[in-house]
Amino acid sequence: MSKDIIIAIDGFSGCGKSSTAKAVAHALGYTYLDSGAMYRAVTLYFIRHQVDLQDEKLIQNALDHIHITFSPQKSGQGNDTYLNGENVEEEIRQMPVSQKVSQVSAIPAVRSAMVAQQRQLGAAKRVVMDGRDIGTNVFPQAELKIFMTANAGIRAQRRQKELLEQGTKVGLIDITRNLEERDIIDSTRHENPLKKAADAVEIDTSYLKFQEQVDKVLEMARNIIFQA
Ligand code: C5P
Repeated sequence: MSKDIIIAIDGFSGCGKSSTAKAVAHALGYTYLDSGAMYRAVTLYFIRHQVDLQDEKLIQNALDHIHITFSPQKSGQGNDTYLNGENVEEEIRQMPVSQKVSQVSAIPAVRSAMVAQQRQLGAAKRVVMDGRDIGTNVFPQAELKIFMTANAGIRAQRRQKELLEQGTKVGLIDITRNLEERDIIDSTRHENPLKKAADAVEIDTSYLKFQEQVDKVLEMARNIIFQA
């Protein structure tokens, strides 16, 4: 006997949520969904169209023209993110988007549009979704909720390595500042702030090897999936 579940992985920026979620989804044959990529794609659209973040009408109009889709990457376990049909996967990871995304994702209209899509994407279960409010708000009924943490220095180093792998060199000071700024905005915003769900399992990844953190989540997931 097995059952289909939703796995929600939330936590601060740069804790390894996405890479863990991807590997867990791959091992289980589940779909990986990166909710942060959706907020990043909206932010890119707002930057390109110079949408005034104070103007509710303009924001709603922009949201009506934004269509976000995912397609599996040819290499690896992740997805490419498409904004109105254009592959924006690389651009949404760059600093101009990182510097604005927390302001954009704090806007209630943006959140309700994205949350509605995320709920649709997870409606059939068998998904691993990572973000900030997945276990508290998007899928409060998720069968497994993980809350990831890691110390700030280690998070910044990991993010720097990721950016370097994509060919972008950014100094540790700038990265640390950006991670800390986003953590503050994400956890203090009015609408669905980042916080640990009461029934989430906390994993501090500071001193865990990548495979160890994946195995921890997989073990918990399999216990739920295959429980009699
Ligand atoms: O996960 P990632 O770091 O790519 O997310 C980028 C930003 O998107 C976060 O800093 C946060 O502001 C926003 N976000 C959010 N809710 C989510 C996922 C991401 O507000 N569920």
